[in-house]
Amino acid sequence: MQKGKINVTTENIFPIIKKFLYSDHEIFLRELVSNAVDATQKLKTLASIGEFKSELGDQTIMVELDKKKKTLKITDKGIGMTAEEVEKYITQIAFSSAEEFLEKYKEKGNAIIGHFGLGFYSAFMVSEKVELVTKSHQEGAKAVKWVCDGSPEYSIEETEKEGFGTEITLFIDSESKEFLEKDRISGILNKYCKFLPVEIAFGKKTEWKDGKEVETDKLNIINDPKPLWTVKPVDAKEEDYDKFYHKLYSGVDAPLFNIHLNVDYPFNLTGILYFPKIKNNIEIQKNKIQLYSNQVFVTDSVEGIVPEFLMLLHGVLDSPDIPLNVSRSYLQSDSNVKKISNHIMKKVADRLEEIFKEKRSDYEKKWDDLKLFITYGMISEEKFYEKAVKFALLKNTDNKYFTFDEYKELIKSNQTDKNKSIVHLYASDIEKQHSFIEKAKAKGYDVLVLDGQLDSHFVNQLEQKLSDCRFVRVDADVVDKLIEKDDVKASHLTAEQKAEMSEVFESAIVSSDNYIVSFEALGESESPVIITQNEFMRRMKDMSQLSGGADAFYGSLPNSYNLVVNSDHPLVNKLMEQKDKKLSKKIDEVKSKLSPLTEEKDNLKKSHEKLKNEEIPQADKDRIAELEKEISSLEENKREFLKDFGSNNKLAKQMIDLSLLANNMLSGKALTDFVKRSVELIK
Ligand code: ADP
Repeated sequence: MQKGKINVTTENIFPIIKKFLYSDHEIFLRELVSNAVDATQKLKTLASIGEFKSELGDQTIMVELDKKKKTLKITDKGIGMTAEEVEKYITQIAFSSAEEFLEKYKEKGNAIIGHFGLGFYSAFMVSEKVELVTKSHQEGAKAVKWVCDGSPEYSIEETEKEGFGTEITLFIDSESKEFLEKDRISGILNKYCKFLPVEIAFGKKTEWKDGKEVETDKLNIINDPKPLWTVKPVDAKEEDYDKFYHKLYSGVDAPLFNIHLNVDYPFNLTGILYFPKIKNNIEIQKNKIQLYSNQVFVTDSVEGIVPEFLMLLHGVLDSPDIPLNVSRSYLQSDSNVKKISNHIMKKVADRLEEIFKEKRSDYEKKWDDLKLFITYGMISEEKFYEKAVKFALLKNTDNKYFTFDEYKELIKSNQTDKNKSIVHLYASDIEKQHSFIEKAKAKGYDVLVLDGQLDSHFVNQLEQKLSDCRFVRVDADVVDKLIEKDDVKASHLTAEQKAEMSEVFESAIVSSDNYIVSFEALGESESPVIITQNEFMRRMKDMSQLSGGADAFYGSLPNSYNLVVNSDHPLVNKLMEQKDKKLSKKIDEVKSKLSPLTEEKDNLKKSHEKLKNEEIPQADKDRIAELEKEISSLEENKREFLKDFGSNNKLAKQMIDLSLLANNMLSGKALTDFVKRSVELIK
């Protein structure tokens, strides 16, 4: 037996490896099984070119657990190594790469992603001793046994071994007992090795006999060596894709569509992406794509590798061209990764366009489940937007679907306002906004349904892109003013009447929200009072609610509504009459006191018109101040009368409550009061 000392500068690097890589310990198995797969495939290649002439035999890789002996063994029938090769690859190269890795790790810390391969030496993360027995495939080769306990010392000696290949035995250390559990190893193999290209057996298959689980003599193969993404797209059937999807994710809805990627120039990329049903809540849907490198699982966190919105897709990507052993920030700027990411995006868009063109009715049926994904893509990726405008759909309240162009054609003639913009009316809640939708429809307008999580952002973007379009929610204004044409009738009320009635309505409102009262002549058949919400403010508030942070300003403003009084309505006239009957005497009195005062003030001001401020006599200034005080106190009196009238007036309250009810905004005490008052009124 020969003893040697591994030439490293660090006295003992294994404690450090263990400490630094604690959370990633499980990858040792991926590394060792990948090495076994590589060795097996290399031998297959040699055989295929005639350089290896013996029988290959069964090449299944074995993973065996012996809980009693505390060992985990990985055996392959690959090319094996000669004593020189063990010295070279295992003792020198592998060790020095482990050291290099550590240097980098110390420098960059967490910047190095979890899937950095440490290779053969990762075995020492979980073992107190590693034994490697190998026999080269070369004719007449002698078997060697290499043993190392993690210190720089190792031993190497000749040994006996039947057949070529390598057998690695890990003596699991006391801190890593978890790796002696069958379920744990099963789990790791299932995660990383499920699609490796050579069959891998983890022990034997078991079956239930007489209430006991017993081993059969069949190998327990844990992988599918030829997963669907490695099959040529023409050779795969539609049902194969569904089957494969369920193999990847159990217990989820069937996907809507799939895309089979198969590129070999200018980079190598295969994979299958699925469009899942996405209803809501984007965040929890992310990180379902699995990334492989030559069928070895690498990660399911594909951030930086695919565009943000594509993270909503499910499926697998396999590319040996994605550098895996580098930090995420590096990945994002890597030109290969960028190319791959753009390519995927283009493929996704092309596929959607193809389905849209060839199977429109099928596409429309799936649109509601697809919409959030496409909207997200259009908002976040310019390039995707440009493609998706052709196949993104709008749905109206009659459940009909249109492309943007088709919809524009449909509404152009009736929904163009006086500034030539085509007004797209929409509802974000067809139940709550029912009365507004009905009114808009009665006017011959079409109403879209935009009730998605991202729709307020999306609408904003569309307005910027489609220059002649505007989006207005049906309850943003009274129906006559939703789409402003030239024929809006003005209210016949005088300024004084408006001022007085505003006071009355304002004091009849019981709410912490902000209401602005205005008057419109809407005709006798329209409701007496209508509550609307300014499109811009509402949208800003909606958007800030979704994104938080940046636009928090809008989010912090109180809700603001318009209370539109229809001055054509008989009930509004009735209220005005009630007010006059009750208050005209009092108000006239105030007015008769007011008029000489305002007259005097106006005259004084007029006489000062041509004077500079310092030329106005002090006595005049004092008198004006005195008059203003008196005027404002009289006006305050008048307001008090109106307030008192308004806050106790059942008719005003009833009209307001009816409009709140039409918007689904009446609840709690306000609703109880309304019901009580209504009963009294019909008694
Ligand atoms: P890497 O696999 O990245 O080259 P490793 O440290 O895992 O690094 O392995 C170092 C070298 O040891 C490999 O390149 C290979 O030549 C050799 N090797 C490791 N495992 C095996 C094996 N099971 N059979 C044959 N050779 C192996």
